[in-house]
Amino acid sequence: MTDAPAAYRYKRVLLKVSGEVLMGDKGFGIDMETVDEVARAVAEVAAEGVEICLVIGGGNIFRGVSKAAGDMDRASADYMGMLATVMNALAMQAALEKIGVHTRVQSALVMNAVAEPYIRRKALRHLEKGRVVIFAAGVGAPFFTTDSGAALRAAEMGCDALLKGTSVDGVYTADPKKDASATRYNTLSYQDVLARDLKVMDASAVALMRDSRIPIVVFSIREKGSLKRVLRGEGAFTVINTGAATS
Ligand code: UDP
Repeated sequence: MTDAPAAYRYKRVLLKVSGEVLMGDKGFGIDMETVDEVARAVAEVAAEGVEICLVIGGGNIFRGVSKAAGDMDRASADYMGMLATVMNALAMQAALEKIGVHTRVQSALVMNAVAEPYIRRKALRHLEKGRVVIFAAGVGAPFFTTDSGAALRAAEMGCDALLKGTSVDGVYTADPKKDASATRYNTLSYQDVLARDLKVMDASAVALMRDSRIPIVVFSIREKGSLKRVLRGEGAFTVINTGAATS
């Protein structure tokens, strides 16, 4: 693989954006203004040569374990959740294409009329050609989440980092919204996250990143310019890797 573009830390990254981020300040659904903002941030770094994979969650529309799922069996509810991620992926694709970014959506659930099926080697080729690849439908199986899908695709694509774009600028010692004395970790180890059950990503996603030695970078995608800053190693974020915890 070639080196990262000048001033950037990583050449190829996977950006996971949760469904909650895409609903912006609305309580539900897709806020196209927020999707456009995320698309602009992605376009900016893609134009400078960073290869980007995207995994979008579906929690803004449907979550298998949510109240809305009622007493529906878990597997059926989870398939609905996966379909929700496809809708978000198509919204993100439209927003990116509108501003001239070449994209492909690959879905883990076969849906030929709307997306390519997931084919690893084809996805790698898209990245090499500078296309943004959006992976939809998580891992394509119930009882998983898009965090696991993001970790799996990051490993398969040989990404240099998994970026978790949330609405908080990193991992804190306590909930910063409830505890004013909470401080942000600069670094944490995979083991810290797993042993302390810190709610960063699903344990299965963290374990896969640990085994693949891919750092997880947690940052706030809601702050303007944050994606570019994080990719350059600037601004606020928490890196989870093999090192010791520092705050
Ligand atoms: N889901 C699933 N398998 C997957 C990915 C997603 O069953 O591989 C379902 C699951 O019901 C989940 C929903 O899709 O609750 C939405 O994904 P997620 O909760 O990860 O979205 P986010 O929290 O990132 O918005």
